[in-house]
Amino acid sequence: MNDSSELYFHQLPVGEMANLAYLLGSTTTRECLIVDPAWNVKGMLDQAEADGMKVVGALVTHYHQDHVGGSIFGMEIEGLPELMTRNPVPVHVNQQEAEGLRHVTGVSESDLVRHEGGDVVELGGVKIRLMHTPGHTPGSQCFLVETPQHAGCLVSGDTLFLGSCGRVDLPGGDPEALYESLHGQLGKLPDETLLYPGHLYAADPSSTIGEQKRTNPYLRVARLEDFLGFLGY
Ligand SMILES: [Zn+2]
Repeated sequence: MNDSSELYFHQLPVGEMANLAYLLGSTTTRECLIVDPAWNVKGMLDQAEADGMKVVGALVTHYHQDHVGGSIFGMEIEGLPELMTRNPVPVHVNQQEAEGLRHVTGVSESDLVRHEGGDVVELGGVKIRLMHTPGHTPGSQCFLVETPQHAGCLVSGDTLFLGSCGRVDLPGGDPEALYESLHGQLGKLPDETLLYPGHLYAADPSSTIGEQKRTNPYLRVARLEDFLGFLGY
C-alpha cells in the first residue's frame, strides 16, 4: 500500500481469537513498532527482520490478554513478556491502562511509557498519533498513522471493527464512553481514512471510515439513546 511513501505497514493475523497485530514504521529510518504483540511474538519479529526493519517499541491498544499476552479462559497467551525477553523495547500505553497492563502481563514500570490522548510517537517522517478512545476499556487507544504522502490510516484495536464495535460488558467497559469515542472522535476523521481493526470479524481485513459511517450500525446510529438500545442497555 505504500510504494511511494516512507510508511512501513504490515498487518499480521495471529492466534486463535482472530486477532490482527501490526508492524508500522518508517522505511527511511528502518525502525518500526509492534502493535499488540501477542500469540506469535517470534513470528512478528521474524517478519520485521525479513523486511530489514528494527523493532524499537511496542504500542498497546488495550490491556486484554489476547492483545498483550496473559492467561485467559485457561489459555496461556504469549505476549509482552516474550517480547521483553527476545527484543526489549519501550511499551507505549495509555496512562489509564498502565496498571491493568502490568497486572495482566507482569511487565515492570520501567518498561512502560505512559501516554495521554493526543501524544505523538514519531519514526522518521511517520507520525503516530495516540487517540484515547475509552469504552471497550478505560485506557483503550487507537493509532492514527500519518505521513506527508498519506491521508492517514487508523489502527483501531477493539474500539471499532468492520461492521461492529468493541464489547462493553467486560470490567471497565463503558457504553457512553464508547459512543463518545466512536461519534466524537473516530467518526470525525476524514472519510478516506483507512481502518485496520484489532480482530478479523468481517470478510475484509480493512475498510475506510467513510465506508463504516455508511454501513456500520454503531456508527450510523445518531443518538446516544439509540446506541445504548442497540447495545442492549
Ligand atoms: Zn479487548
